[in-house]
Amino acid sequence: MIGGGIAGLTAATTLASRLGDKVEVTVLTKEPYYVSGPTRPLILTDEERFERIIRGYGYVGSLGIKVVYGAVSSIDPGNRVVKYVESPPYGTAGGALSYDYLIVAPGVVFDGSGITGYGKWWWVNSNVYDPGMLTELKSKLWSINQGTVLIYAPKAPYRCAPAPTETALLAHTVLKHRGVRDRVRVIHVDANDKTQPPIIADKVKELYDKAGIELVTNQDITELSSNEVVTRSGERYKFDVLAMLEPNRAPSFIRDAGLGDNWFEVRSPTDLRHVKYDDVLAAGDAAKLPYPKNQEIAFESALFAVNKILEDLGVGDRVNVQYAFVGWAYLGNIEGRLETLSLQFGFDYTQQTPKPIKDPEPKREYTVQKDRWMQTYLSKLFGY
Ligand SMILES: Cc1cc2nc3c(=O)[nH]c(=O)nc-3n(C[C@H](O)[C@H](O)[C@H](O)COP(=O)(O)OP(=O)(O)OC[C@H]3O[C@@H](n4cnc5c(N)ncnc54)[C@H](O)[C@@H]3O)c2cc1C
Repeated sequence: MIGGGIAGLTAATTLASRLGDKVEVTVLTKEPYYVSGPTRPLILTDEERFERIIRGYGYVGSLGIKVVYGAVSSIDPGNRVVKYVESPPYGTAGGALSYDYLIVAPGVVFDGSGITGYGKWWWVNSNVYDPGMLTELKSKLWSINQGTVLIYAPKAPYRCAPAPTETALLAHTVLKHRGVRDRVRVIHVDANDKTQPPIIADKVKELYDKAGIELVTNQDITELSSNEVVTRSGERYKFDVLAMLEPNRAPSFIRDAGLGDNWFEVRSPTDLRHVKYDDVLAAGDAAKLPYPKNQEIAFESALFAVNKILEDLGVGDRVNVQYAFVGWAYLGNIEGRLETLSLQFGFDYTQQTPKPIKDPEPKREYTVQKDRWMQTYLSKLFGY
């Protein structure tokens, strides 16, 4: 397994529990800890704490799964070898692992290299996607007294569709709470024709109008400088705080191994083997799937990958799984109370025409449900 995140651990723990000591399951992952994503944006409003969302791999080890800390540098699918380099502070000096089956689940890379000026000015950016950047964004939102906060969503697909709108609405909440909102503009620039996911775009727009958040769609950022971004059509936006999500792609070792271009090429959503290799599968955000990149899809794709391996091994038993999810998008609190409301939405992809699910009423209860859902995932995969 490459990647000790949602997809990698779902596949590893399921295979270990189904097959016991008939197989050796190894998870090769970069860090000796995992920081979970979904409730992370609430750190901005002090409604979440890092200690509740960081986990270690002790429990995974106790299940008999071997965990190797190292950063994958290459895959040689012809010879069934994965090479990795040391990833301090823990890990081995680097080396190679061979496999009978490989599941590739390293998540995404946020890649700003296509934006002119990003190489020089990357450090003016902070967002909710990286823990360090998140603390920077929080500190900026809690200290800015006037100016402009600019939020940016790149072209879909990117990890967690609602996160940019969550960022904008949580930024509004913090600024309102601090009594400076009337002196700070909040602008959301989006490369898509609607905020993502489209199913809740109407509700988000309604709320943006109420909160005075300016929305610009169909504009992708192509240039960055110390205090300004420029979009492909030449529009310029000044900022004092920039919360830009860079375009997403799978890690480059996937492309280098001939396993895909921007994403790992799978045969179909239910057959996650590589189009050329029967023994190399993908799961989670790195896989090219016609679905949003989120935790439920990561979990479900991992189970489909496991089922394919069980089938290949001639094991009759299958894991029950289908593509469907219910999710929650944070809407902050328009009045500036640090009590976030959320929308519930979802999709059932088992239907010929995928069936959307939406409760148009923002509720505090949904914020609580999202927290419970997240903590249940963490307990299941990390044991606490
Ligand atoms: C801020 C934020 C908010 C989110 N909100 C939501 C939400 O509300 N709802 C929702 O459903 N989803 C949400 N998500 C998305 C969700 O977290 C991801 O879709 C899910 O984690 C994808 O699982 P994955 O296993 O593909 O990747 P991850 O869970 O990221 O796991 C990837 C693992 O691979 C490891 N790795 C990466 N590169 C290498 C390498 N070279 N060598 C070894 N290991 C490597 C990483 O360290 C990591 O452990 C959010 C994510 C973020 C960051």
